[in-house]
Amino acid sequence: MGADTIYQQLRGHLAYLKLAAAADALAPALEAAEREKPGYTQFLHDLLATEVAASEQRRLDGRMRFSRLPAHKTLEQFDFTAQPTLDRRLVEDLATLRFVEEKANCLLIGPPGVGKTHLAIALGLKAVHAGYRVYYTTAADLVARTSRAAMDGRWANTMRFWAGPQLLIVDELGYLPMPGEAASHLFQVISRRYEHGSIVLTTNRGIADWGQIFEDTTVATAVLDRLLHHASVLSVTGDSYRMRRHRNAIAALRPAITGRPQGEEFP
Ligand code: ADP
Ligand code: MG
Repeated sequence: MGADTIYQQLRGHLAYLKLAAAADALAPALEAAEREKPGYTQFLHDLLATEVAASEQRRLDGRMRFSRLPAHKTLEQFDFTAQPTLDRRLVEDLATLRFVEEKANCLLIGPPGVGKTHLAIALGLKAVHAGYRVYYTTAADLVARTSRAAMDGRWANTMRFWAGPQLLIVDELGYLPMPGEAASHLFQVISRRYEHGSIVLTTNRGIADWGQIFEDTTVATAVLDRLLHHASVLSVTGDSYRMRRHRNAIAALRPAITGRPQGEEFP
């Protein structure tokens, strides 16, 4: 068999195996090999490495598109000196993504404009790059879509969808009040993900005010109970006095509903 025929067959094999990047790289790789005379192993390694890199890039692009992250914000862009009271160590600990591995949650609490969404997106980006399935939504969008799904008889589907990503970012809880049914939908999403997948949630309301978001303290407490059982709480106002106030509020709310004392892992 002539070299040309073998070359054509090899290209055919690569195409059949859907190794498009290796197929494209084949001709230049062979040319370079004529000059540089690499070993057989080295040659095959380099050709397949091209394919692996292309495949990783494709998957990364896919995860990025799926995530619907609304902007490109990184931790490197975050100015910690503008937030001197923010617990930087905790942010850096979250950035290791161990919390995603542990299916734990993260709550970002603070007034508008302090960088909650920025930090949530930055953690999401890190997770996308690390290979996790991430999905960004706002609390309002989540409940609107879930309510629509319930009306259209797609409840099971939509619940499966919300349970799917390894990290779900729920942005802007508390900007709009949540009537009973919407609150119950949010609760069911959170409940479904409990100990199965992480949530990063941002809110402008201190935990003591969650009763007002939900117009119902029972649902508020149930949501908080699931969310906070394995959670880090970042106060983006950074005011430690405020944090103490949140903590006391949770401590007071929890046993009333769950009969369970406050979790140890809550910082
Ligand atoms: P929030 O979600 O708390 O309302 P955002 O995250 O949307 O606030 O922040 C508002 C804008 O300010 C965004 O463009 C964000 O990137 C930027 N920003 C906020 N805080 C910081 C910071 N500490 N360092 C760099 N950019 C910041
Ligand atoms: Mg925001």
